Amino acid sequence: MQLINQPTITTNGVVRPTLVEVNLDRLTENYRAIQQKVAPARVMAILKANAYGHGLVEVARHICALGVDYLGVAVLEEGILLREQGITAPVLVLGGILGNQIPLFLKYDLTLTASSVEKLEHIEEAARQMGVTARVHLKIDTGMERIGVHYYSAETLLEASLRQKHIQVEGIFSHFANADTDDPSYTRLQLERFMEVLSFYERRSLPTPLRHIANSAAILQYPESYLDMVRAGILLYGVYPSPEVARSIQVRPALSWKSHVVFFKVVKPGHPVGYGSTWQSDHMVRVVTVPVGYGDGYFRCMSGKAEVILHGKRYPVVGRIAMDQIMVNIEWDSAYNNDEVILIGEDGDVSITCEDLACWADTIPYEILTNINTRVPRVYVHDPK
Ligand SMILES: *Cc1c(COP(=O)(O)O)cnc(C)c1O
Repeated sequence: MQLINQPTITTNGVVRPTLVEVNLDRLTENYRAIQQKVAPARVMAILKANAYGHGLVEVARHICALGVDYLGVAVLEEGILLREQGITAPVLVLGGILGNQIPLFLKYDLTLTASSVEKLEHIEEAARQMGVTARVHLKIDTGMERIGVHYYSAETLLEASLRQKHIQVEGIFSHFANADTDDPSYTRLQLERFMEVLSFYERRSLPTPLRHIANSAAILQYPESYLDMVRAGILLYGVYPSPEVARSIQVRPALSWKSHVVFFKVVKPGHPVGYGSTWQSDHMVRVVTVPVGYGDGYFRCMSGKAEVILHGKRYPVVGRIAMDQIMVNIEWDSAYNNDEVILIGEDGDVSITCEDLACWADTIPYEILTNINTRVPRVYVHDPK
């Protein structure tokens, strides 16, 4: 369990010079902005993958203090960790379940995702044996082909769910495949399919469970998809899901990634820098070394593209990104040991975003955030008063 959220490593009280700073006030602002936009729908805060790299337990504590309605994680272990750390808010585990995991779900009072009659019967049997009522959300596949019962055969699952004595079907949900693009056609089709499945309850005059389908992109672009609850992931952390989405809510990034200069030198022309000797200067330059690398999640494939901020100015990372260190060409500017280096974040008007890193690494911001290794200590800060 420690792997998910290692305690900050300190030596005689000194934190590693490379750290992630999470601004809790920004998390609050982002959460409030989402809440305001989607009201009266409720908000499920998605905390999977170490809260998108922001630190699972600390973010959970903060969001719970704001009165969040529901927490969502991807895997059982994340849910257990939250419970072991004293988080009592309802927690939905979004991923698929295996039979032998079910007793743990029940022991830790975690909400299960059920996507087949067979799973439902497994849950029923385990709950009966333990003498408890299992809380379940049914998962409908409306066009993602990941997990969930297909919308065209969902009725059997919904019917079966009515027969179980030890299961409370608290919710029913689906997931969009393309809500982050500027083409609404597939998202609308998925929503239509979901509504058709939900009509089951109306047709039988049964109360409808909590309905949810909207992720961050849908929160921004499809108000008609809010239903009873939305699932806010990346937007909560202040990052937009894609460059194409309408920015109908203003959010700001909560995460900064910082390090410090550990070494300064002058490099002569024609003297290559780093593994593979891929870069050299044709004139004398000053180069600083910064203790961060791909072993921290600063992807090696960004070599030759990445930049960092030093003293409010952007400078290029030169040579190959190594496991634990990078070199930065500051031309003939000055820098001293221990000067702050910003990998993601702002200094005055200059900023580097996780979208920038995603572009250099040819990926999406989600992958940048969730790959910042647990070797990097997380520090929680507030805006200066
Ligand atoms: C990750 C996830 C979300 C949140 O997605 P964002 O794009 O980060 O908002 C919502 N629902 C499910 C099922 C997910 O797996």
